[in-house]
This record gives sequence, structure tokens and C-alpha cells, in this order.
Amino acid sequence: MVKITIDHDKCEGADCAECIDVCPMEVLILDGEKVVIQNKEECSLCEVCMDVCPNEAVVVEDDD
Ligand code: SF4
Repeated sequence: MVKITIDHDKCEGADCAECIDVCPMEVLILDGEKVVIQNKEECSLCEVCMDVCPNEAVVVEDDD
């Protein structure tokens, strides 16, 4: 199963939101100013959200 963690102490939220733009599966969305996980089950573990985050706030892992 995919596990996605967003560290909101590091995440710049709506001021950045790079991960939302790059995610091909629309897993991440904005809830007000905050980046939240919308549909974790759609995640393909491509890790582009991790690559693009300037703050290492997003961690995606396969925790099977
Ligand atoms: S790993 Fe890929 S599919 Fe999963 S949330 Fe990140 S960008 Fe979206």
C-alpha cells in the first residue's frame, strides 16, 4: 500500500503547490492554503512530487 506523508511544518502550501502541478494522478489538492491528499489509492509511486518539492515536505513510500 502507498503511504504519503506531507510535513506541514515544511510545506509552503498554496505559496508553492509544485507537487499538485506535477502529480499525473491528481492525488494532491489544495484545501484552502494547505496541500492535502485527495485520493491516495490513485498514487502510482512515480515520486515526482518528492523530486519537485523544494522543502522535502512530501514523502511517498510503498509500505507493503
Ligand atoms: S508519487 Fe506520483 S502519483 Fe503519487 S502523489 Fe506523488 S506525483 Fe502523485
